[in-house]
Amino acid sequence: MGAAHNYEKVRTMANAMEIYKLLPKTNCKECGKSTCMAFAVSLLSRELTVDDCPPLKEDKLKANYGKLSDLITPAQGASESGMIVHEDKCFGCGNCVVACPVNVADDPHGAGIGRAPTSDKVILRVKDGIVRTSNVQECRRFGKDKILCNGCIVTCPTEAIEFV
Ligand code: SF4
Ligand code: SF4
Ligand code: SF4
Repeated sequence: MGAAHNYEKVRTMANAMEIYKLLPKTNCKECGKSTCMAFAVSLLSRELTVDDCPPLKEDKLKANYGKLSDLITPAQGASESGMIVHEDKCFGCGNCVVACPVNVADDPHGAGIGRAPTSDKVILRVKDGIVRTSNVQECRRFGKDKILCNGCIVTCPTEAIEFV
């Protein structure tokens, strides 16, 4: 679990660096962040958007603006939080449903103990043999207070869940 957690960290840092390289790197703070690197991390968590960096709209940085927009646009099939469930890999074991701390907190007597969810607020539930997502905005990886949670990723035996 520790190794997987570190791997996630490394992967996210690499992505933040990739984004940072395309930013103006002037730390002008117009986006409300103290550094361009902080802005890169905010783009990753979807707290801010590419449009929140005004210098990127200048003519000389137009190409970078385009590249960043492509990088940040969620891949096809990704939910609002960047989560992708590869349905062809999911066999409905329910590990992720029980591992998700949001599920457990919202539904301690249902999803939290491996039973069918009794709450509408859960993020992950198994239906018709495949995991389904809802309330993705509640995912701990989403928004300005995001945490690099990886409960669902590391408990999936088939690597059916990933985040972009
Ligand atoms: S507005 Fe753009 S250039 Fe200025 S600090 Fe934010 S990311 Fe960097
Ligand atoms: S990343 Fe964490 S909070 Fe988000 S769905 Fe997975 S286990 Fe739940
Ligand atoms: S842990 Fe993986 S295989 Fe099991 S239900 Fe979740 S996504 Fe599907």
